Amino acid sequence: MTKVHNYSAGPCILPQEVLEKAAAAVQNFNGLNLSILEVSHRGKDFVEAMENARSLVKELLGVPEGYQVLFLQGGASLGFLTAAYNFFPQGGKAAYINTGTWAKNAIKEAKRFGNVDVIASSEDKNFSYIPKGYGIPSDASYLHYTSNNTIYGTQFKKTPISRIPLICDMSSDIFSKEINVADFDLIYAGAQKNLGPAGATLYIVKEKMLGKTGNDIPTMLDLSTHIAKDSMFNTPPVYSIYVSMLTLEWLKKNGGVSWIEKINQQKADLLYSEIDRNGLFRGVTEKEDRSNMNATFVLNDESHKETFDKMWNAANISGIKGHRSVGGYRASMYNALPLESVQVLVDVMKELERTKG
Ligand SMILES: *Cc1c(COP(=O)(O)O)cnc(C)c1O
Repeated sequence: MTKVHNYSAGPCILPQEVLEKAAAAVQNFNGLNLSILEVSHRGKDFVEAMENARSLVKELLGVPEGYQVLFLQGGASLGFLTAAYNFFPQGGKAAYINTGTWAKNAIKEAKRFGNVDVIASSEDKNFSYIPKGYGIPSDASYLHYTSNNTIYGTQFKKTPISRIPLICDMSSDIFSKEINVADFDLIYAGAQKNLGPAGATLYIVKEKMLGKTGNDIPTMLDLSTHIAKDSMFNTPPVYSIYVSMLTLEWLKKNGGVSWIEKINQQKADLLYSEIDRNGLFRGVTEKEDRSNMNATFVLNDESHKETFDKMWNAANISGIKGHRSVGGYRASMYNALPLESVQVLVDVMKELERTKG
């Protein structure tokens, strides 16, 4: 098989050895001579995988006592609603930071519950920066933000300092860098950006914050339902959870989050320094807010597009076409993308400069 340098924004690249183990489990799960796709989620083998996945999350992120780890369905998009159901009290108010499409979608769901105070927004410049210097209203029930803006290529470099409960959609940078889980009351993330295949959504919730809203929460959206059943209230997305577990094992074996954070920084430094050095390209976001996961950039002269597109295609690079709302290019450098793949892209950019510069 030709090696493809996979910059897909999501679902994303997974480690080769994870794909091999995942493929093997489809044929024969744990030596049962049965596929993981055809066994009970209540059987010993899958229950062990689920427990292993949950405990690896705790270990790799240093999740403190009092927090629960759940693997649910519905994607981060249902997380927008789940967060509000579980944290937005009747007649209350919540604060949101608007840093792009996903933040906006979260705001839209929260508005069903009451007064949403959008305390900061970067919409004035097409979400090309992270707002700073905003006040956080002390009478809001929580602050919600999106740690990494997958489409625009911006990332919070610091956790907002909040005296009110803090909720974060970490879909596209969870496990990419160290975080202090104790700063948060709820973290949620769709698996398909940095953790595993689509289908599972990770929730990390401070348990004592639940049950205070007075909302009549539908059973499936009530995080307490899933905590009471160890994330097995109903049939969980077994394969997505299993492959996520394999990815977490891969991460642990190689040195954990602090190890991958260093590599992710090297990858980002390599690509951004070429974007800044090469006169044919420019980045589209504020430098200090640049995402280490999704690098967005454009050609200064659009007439080079056809040549550049041919060149990176020929180098077996896949998935760097920008999102339609930004244009240009977006190179997603999730955990499993090796540094060598970034070097291949940088070499193509240099080659374009040699021929056109
Ligand atoms: C992809 C993405 C989402 C949407 O996730 P789904 O699992 O498709 O619902 C939400 N937030 C962020 C930051 C994302 O990158």
